[in-house]
Amino acid sequence: MAGSKKPFKNYNPVKAALQVSLAYAVVGMIWILFSDKIMHDILIRDPFALKMSTIKGSLYVIITGILLFVYIMRVLRRIQAADQALLKKNEELIAIDQELQEKIKELTESEERYRLISEATNDGIWDEKEGKRFFSERWYEITGYTEEDIERIGDWMALIHPEDIGKVRQKLSWHKQNRDPYYECEYRLKFKDGKYRWILSKSKLIFDHKGEIIRSAGSHSDITDLKISQERLKGLAYRDFLTGMPNRISFIDTVTEHILKYPDKKKALIFFDIDNFKHINDTVGYLVGDQLIIAIGQRLSSLSDANKSAYRNSGDEFVIFIHEYEDIEEVENFTRQLIRIISQPFVFSNYTLNINISIGIALYPLHGKDIDTLFKCADIAMFEAKSKDRGRYIFYHESMEAEFKERMLLGNELRGALERNEFQLHYQPQLNIDTGEIFKFEALLRWHNERFGNVPPIKFIEIAEETHLINPIGDWVLNEACSFLKELHKSGFSHISISINVSIIQLMQHDFVYKVIETLKRHQLDPRYLEVEVTESVFIESYEDVREKLELLSSRGISIALDDFGSGYSSLNYLIEMPINTLKIDKSFIHSISENFEGQTLASMIIMLGQKLGLSVIAEGVETKDQVEYLEKLKCYNVQGYYFSGPVPREEVFNLLNREKIL
Ligand code: C2E
Ligand code: CA
Ligand code: CA
Repeated sequence: MAGSKKPFKNYNPVKAALQVSLAYAVVGMIWILFSDKIMHDILIRDPFALKMSTIKGSLYVIITGILLFVYIMRVLRRIQAADQALLKKNEELIAIDQELQEKIKELTESEERYRLISEATNDGIWDEKEGKRFFSERWYEITGYTEEDIERIGDWMALIHPEDIGKVRQKLSWHKQNRDPYYECEYRLKFKDGKYRWILSKSKLIFDHKGEIIRSAGSHSDITDLKISQERLKGLAYRDFLTGMPNRISFIDTVTEHILKYPDKKKALIFFDIDNFKHINDTVGYLVGDQLIIAIGQRLSSLSDANKSAYRNSGDEFVIFIHEYEDIEEVENFTRQLIRIISQPFVFSNYTLNINISIGIALYPLHGKDIDTLFKCADIAMFEAKSKDRGRYIFYHESMEAEFKERMLLGNELRGALERNEFQLHYQPQLNIDTGEIFKFEALLRWHNERFGNVPPIKFIEIAEETHLINPIGDWVLNEACSFLKELHKSGFSHISISINVSIIQLMQHDFVYKVIETLKRHQLDPRYLEVEVTESVFIESYEDVREKLELLSSRGISIALDDFGSGYSSLNYLIEMPINTLKIDKSFIHSISENFEGQTLASMIIMLGQKLGLSVIAEGVETKDQVEYLEKLKCYNVQGYYFSGPVPREEVFNLLNREKIL
């Protein structure tokens, strides 16, 4: 190489010319001295001729020597100039050479770095120009393809998953429009083995003045494993831990996505929860409660198909999403099927649970066009279903909104009602129409609120149950009734009993029996004068627990009355199994006495059933003379109703008792 050669040696051209000329002169002089002419002149011994010949010869030598010197000088000077130009060129060449060496070194280093990065990141690198894409070796290694494969395939984009190609094109067009040089996209790419793998494509795009991509380069990273773990995480986030069902997040996502994708299809949300689940949990324990939730999840899964998906919303709340329906009947039929499936007893090792659910249904787009509105509507409808007969389903209706609001407001007011002393007890007499004597009073709760005025129990008892406020309120009733009873006894009406209404929520309290006994003791009352009224529904909730508690009360002498008998559930087993003393025949049967013959027959059958079982029977809601006469005929002497007296405040009770006979 040029760099390895030595530069031209420096020399002095004058010195060199002189040396050559001197050598010539010496040789010339010698030659002249020994020339024929000089020799001849020496031989002829002509000093003048010799002198002249020597001068001539010397002159000749000197002149030619000078000419030679000048000539050599010029030649050497030229050579020297050329030499120096060459030297300069040489230096330039060396500099270029060095620069080149550095560039090569740099290039190899960056290539090495590139390769290292590509290997370390496991990325395949590509470069695209004029529609032709070049892939790095690593890319071929990762994908399994060879250059020939890609050439044969032609358009490499054909390898992108059909579901992703739209997304890729969309992204590219977005970048084109915005001239954003940085592009990033995740999609599936078919590898040589025929399987699709997830690729993260990152690239830098270069645009021409028209906004067309003229060149691009980037990397492909295989992110399949990352995607799988992401999916797994997503799966965890979307699954309910207890039941393994899709959860609320999944529900919201699915419904939102469906609304977006198929805005014209009718859809339905069926939302439900278990009636009194809290109490089931309190009685049978959380483990059985959990088992119940899991079992419900399993039953719901059996109802799910491509068009219906079931989710656990939270706690005891579930929701079923019907992706599309044609006819409202489809939704109703499905809901009835749901009720049937859930009504089947749930059998666990130590317990058999029968549950009721309350169902609210919201329809898209009729009731709402987004998930929030739809869910709110379904919730309101469910709330409504709860306030109606249990085990019912109700479609959302605008009118519910006002009712829902009122219930919320009532609930808020109810919270402070005890402290504000807003409750009062009224007492309705029970008498014997044979003797005309009052023997018992049923304590009935009255609520007077500043904002809502007199609120009937039918409106607030349920809210009190739902909010569990019925527990402190019920304690107040028990205490108040006992205190009044004591007063009655002290006033000479010592034969009078008091009956209080007790809700299932109260019965579920573990210390309920203790509270009753303790209150009686505090007021120094004989338990025989207290009656506890329960409805048939309490047996449905938690049979064993209720039976135990009622038996305990009964064993202490407290009497148990079954309220609204005949209005609810069909099983009559509990009439025998439960420690019931009194049957309170529901007012609907008493009213039917006045209606027709069938009504009378029904009433008489119900009354006779109680009598045959040896229970004390009392007719509720007696309003007319013909009802009284018919009851007399049936020997059903114990009655309660407006015909004699409605519920009255405590002061009036004394008036009623002071009358000789109420009849
Ligand atoms: P209930 O236990 O069946 O009480 C009898 C209801 O019938 C009372 O309504 C009473 O005023 C009404 N009634 C009495 N005689 C007649 C009649 O001849 N005809 C008609 N149509 N109705 C009559 P009220 O006081 O509005 O109570 C409604 C319900 O609220 C009660 O039904 C009971 O389930 C509940 N309730 C009342 N007080 C309490 C309470 O202290 N605790 C609990 N847990 N529930 C209570
Ligand atoms: Ca009652
Ligand atoms: Ca009743």
